[in-house]
Amino acid sequence: MINFNEPPYTGKEIEYIGETIKNKKICGDGIFSKKCSKWMEEEFKATRVLLTTSCTHALEMSAILAEIKPNDEVIMPSFTFVSTANAFVLRGAKIIFVDIRPDTMNIDETKIESAISSRTKAIVVVHYAGIACEMDTIKRIAQKHALFLIEDAAQGVMSTYKGQALGTIGDFGSYSFHETKNYSMGEGGAIIINQPSYVERAEIIREKGTNRSKFFRGEIAKYTWVDQGSSYLPSDINAAYLWAQLEMAEIIKKNRMDSWNRYHENLEALEVRGFIRRPVVPKECQHNAHIYYIKTTDIEERSKLIEYLRKHNILAVFHYIPLHSSEAGLMYSRFNGEDEYTTRESEKLVRLPMYYGIKKEDIEYIVSCIYDFYLHKVR
Ligand SMILES: *Cc1c(COP(=O)(O)O)cnc(C)c1O
Repeated sequence: MINFNEPPYTGKEIEYIGETIKNKKICGDGIFSKKCSKWMEEEFKATRVLLTTSCTHALEMSAILAEIKPNDEVIMPSFTFVSTANAFVLRGAKIIFVDIRPDTMNIDETKIESAISSRTKAIVVVHYAGIACEMDTIKRIAQKHALFLIEDAAQGVMSTYKGQALGTIGDFGSYSFHETKNYSMGEGGAIIINQPSYVERAEIIREKGTNRSKFFRGEIAKYTWVDQGSSYLPSDINAAYLWAQLEMAEIIKKNRMDSWNRYHENLEALEVRGFIRRPVVPKECQHNAHIYYIKTTDIEERSKLIEYLRKHNILAVFHYIPLHSSEAGLMYSRFNGEDEYTTRESEKLVRLPMYYGIKKEDIEYIVSCIYDFYLHKVR
């Protein structure tokens, strides 16, 4: 069976985890946590990066930092993971969904402004598949209306927009290091703080509402409860796993890009002949090969293709069911304007196996099965 995903593993993980145990320092903000956040701050030219227990929690921290209150409105795409919305729903916000662009599956920047009301507090963008949203336009809109701009860059670690790292463009960004992402620590993430004035509060929220970080830096004599907060810092054991991959971040990225390009080149003829659509990468965007997907004609054809691949020992999967049509979506959200592409395009999308170290022969086999499906009328 060709797996859809395999967690990234470089070989140094066990050694580094062993070090945390030998050091007798396994709680949060230990040696490896510090190495990871410092590396990201330098690599991504970020003001401050704090490891978190998940991207979900990084988004929750962003909602607290943006002071989201009951009845505030938050604009985002419906084609995303539940956490993008839940982080704000937990603060009492109403989610206003905006349609996506069919080419990148990202929020349609031309449809954001008409969704803004006097209650709007923030725009949350999702960089689907690690391919950036049209950030210049979106940043201009956020500034014009004095809204927070928050990036769900869960999938965008090591991607850029006009040379700038995803996650560092808005006020706050968030990364995921879940097992299914390009770089992993099992469960984990990071919040990127791009406004220096929010750094101190972010540290406090992450440390249970205390000024413990300041205490450890020797800036104050004792630490105490100063604000709202929770426990958002991961164990150094997890950070040790992540460090083994960040050290090899370029190698992992290059390996994934090679696989992505192999799919892309080999599937071109099927697109030219009108059978499928392949992903579109705008010229401003350098991506990280997080996902390789193709689009079928419709949902029936997609189900048949997934079934056909499964029969040939290949695990391919679809992605998000748009949030506005979900059970919770009906309670907490509203779709602004027409759902022209969100539902229709999401129903066509199939993700092909993609992970660090996937074999060239496996990709060639997957491609040949897709050709058989379309050309030899096995449909
Ligand atoms: C994976 C993902 C998340 C959640 O990440 P966790 O680290 O599992 O909390 C949020 N948003 C998007 C777009 C994701 O892909």
